[in-house]
Amino acid sequence: MKLIEAITMEDRFGPTRRNAPQLKHKIPFGLKDGALLHVLEVLNGKACGCVCPACSESLIAVNNVRKRIPHFRHSSGAECASGYETAIHMAAKDVLLRRLTLGLPEYSELLQLATSDNRHLQKNVYLPSKVITADRAYPEVSQAQGSFKPDVIFEVGDHQLFIEIRVTHAVDDEKKTKIRNHGVSVIEIDLSQLEPEMLQDRAAFDDVVCFDLLNRHWVFSQKIEQKRSKMMSQLREELEAYEEHLAEAIRLKVEEDKRAANRLKAEAAIRSNPQLSKTKPQAAGQG
Ligand SMILES: [Zn+2]
Repeated sequence: MKLIEAITMEDRFGPTRRNAPQLKHKIPFGLKDGALLHVLEVLNGKACGCVCPACSESLIAVNNVRKRIPHFRHSSGAECASGYETAIHMAAKDVLLRRLTLGLPEYSELLQLATSDNRHLQKNVYLPSKVITADRAYPEVSQAQGSFKPDVIFEVGDHQLFIEIRVTHAVDDEKKTKIRNHGVSVIEIDLSQLEPEMLQDRAAFDDVVCFDLLNRHWVFSQKIEQKRSKMMSQLREELEAYEEHLAEAIRLKVEEDKRAANRLKAEAAIRSNPQLSKTKPQAAGQG
């Protein structure tokens, strides 16, 4: 018995690549008195009173533009290496903690077991997409989970869901192992390829973070693991039953072949020595 073509979650629902123009350094959110504000929510120019979320340098809001995407730039003209990424990461956490809602992506995986006669028994592990509302949410800093710190934690009843926000780095293998060992479900939201219209205002960005199912995938899901494990046992039972049935069919065929061979042997013996048939009282032609 061997497992073939077990498609991993990442293979099936890996981050969707969009061919979006790079918006590095076009910072859409600035910090003002500790609050993260979209560039359309502040006064134009230096009067915005915002600082860069990454380097704390003062920002200039460029929001009276028609042909370009509204954005912040550093007042010194500096090319801040991480301003954009830090702003997106902070803003996404902020959205989740504020809105307490999240669209969970659909999941589908085909489990297959090969039989000894090269057939494939299959079952589909399926989890439909849905929107959840958290009872409570925590940012990373207030509730560290052992050695693994998610960006945001959602609590729904007794259940916890960890949310990772990707702007540059995906969840790496070391982190995946920690997540698996921890046993809590983790969603990764990939914001590394945002299109300009997704940053045009706060509502558009909120929607992308909360509901765009194309930018997220399950890194780990307790429910999927449970379903997969249950279906795999069912599949193994089916395979066992199939193989028993197959073995019985083969045994019957062998017996049948043996009987046929004996018949042929007996008939050949009669043909070579016709006297043999006369010893049988019920043989044809003997009335
Ligand atoms: Zn900066």
